[in-house]
Amino acid sequence: MDDGMPPGSSAGARTVVVVRAGLSFRQSHEDTVTEDSGNYFRKGFGLGPEVQETLATDYDGRLVDLLRQRDYTLEAGGITVRLAREFGFCYGVERAVDYAYQTRKRYPDRTLFLAGEIIHNPHVNAKLRDMGIVFLESGDTGFDYSRVRPEDVVILPAFGVTIDDMKTLRGIGCIVVDTTCGSVLNVWKRVEKYAKDGLTCLIHGKYYHEETRATASQAQKYPGGTYLVVRNMEQGHEVCDYIEGKGLSRDAFLEKYREQASPHFDPDLHLLRVGVANQTTMLARESLAIGAEVGFAMERRHGASHRDEHFRTFDTICSATQDRQDAVNALLEEPLDVMLVVGGYNSSNTMSLAALCADTVRTYHIADASCIDTARGTIRHLPVGAHDEVEAPIWLPADRPLRVGLTAGASTPNNKIGEAVARIFLTRGVEPSVIG
Ligand code: SF4
Repeated sequence: MDDGMPPGSSAGARTVVVVRAGLSFRQSHEDTVTEDSGNYFRKGFGLGPEVQETLATDYDGRLVDLLRQRDYTLEAGGITVRLAREFGFCYGVERAVDYAYQTRKRYPDRTLFLAGEIIHNPHVNAKLRDMGIVFLESGDTGFDYSRVRPEDVVILPAFGVTIDDMKTLRGIGCIVVDTTCGSVLNVWKRVEKYAKDGLTCLIHGKYYHEETRATASQAQKYPGGTYLVVRNMEQGHEVCDYIEGKGLSRDAFLEKYREQASPHFDPDLHLLRVGVANQTTMLARESLAIGAEVGFAMERRHGASHRDEHFRTFDTICSATQDRQDAVNALLEEPLDVMLVVGGYNSSNTMSLAALCADTVRTYHIADASCIDTARGTIRHLPVGAHDEVEAPIWLPADRPLRVGLTAGASTPNNKIGEAVARIFLTRGVEPSVIG
């Protein structure tokens, strides 16, 4: 049993060393790691082969396989579909979903809870609900664990949970299956180091996103640990201006960023020494640009020779996100009439892909294939930066051949991508079954 726990531990709450993806967390004043022996798992249960068939049935897609075999291209009815070479499920999502299935198999008779969504895809989450997994709601102070009993099992999502959530779970003493992605753990390590060294953690991300909340909480492992989350370059510039003594007043800055910063955050004190990190799924070029701008602002404020005392940065975009963005950039160099991006409307990396595409070509971010009305020729989609879905008329005009680019976020399974491909061709009257 590979549970990340030291062998030979016996039941009863006590302090141990927990090994997570090669990182060793010893008991410390802020993050006491106290686990019941054998109740913390982060490497699955060795049941991978037993759940593979179910996973393949639930998520594999014939048309996606065909696209791969045909150099990522399918042509029929005057439509050419070009799929980006990196798309869909990433290693972190595959692992999280796999472990959730393994957990159901390992504990068929126990009550299984999930802290929020395993990933941001409604179909995957619906499958888990069908398996009897109960989703815990999130409140202002973390997830509501009031229904969880010591004999129950709680699965943690790929995004991870906050240090307060972990403390609560330890207090309950339930079984914890931690699917936090290794790339997220790498960001935590970086943020923790900044906080330990007395730097404010400036995180490019969405402050309400599960991953960013969990990441920001890592800063609070240390006394006085501070964070500030910025959503985009516009907010990055406001931070730079403040560093240089320009822009918003202290009160206005606090008012604007109250929700996005740790409770005791004071811009006069906490923007003197800053370390930059990011949510793993943000637009990489924006994260890098924000880091660079903050570095320049520190140079102008403190002098180039003092830059390193006041500023650190580290690109914490995960390789899967980077690969998908690079593949889309490569695809966008081809002549395309339209781009389709498939993924949950609350999926950060899908939104980043859509933003990237929309700069270059007419782009539709759809939640799934049901957004494509093949009879009317319309498409429902979420425009970049919008909160509400809208409908576009006649998105594939029939009067000329069209090249359709396609990609999908890291939480979109292949069968959902395949369904979207099928509907693209159906819009032109081509039965998907004849494509082969
Ligand atoms: S997008 Fe990156 S960080 Fe998120 S689960 Fe996938 S691999 Fe991990």
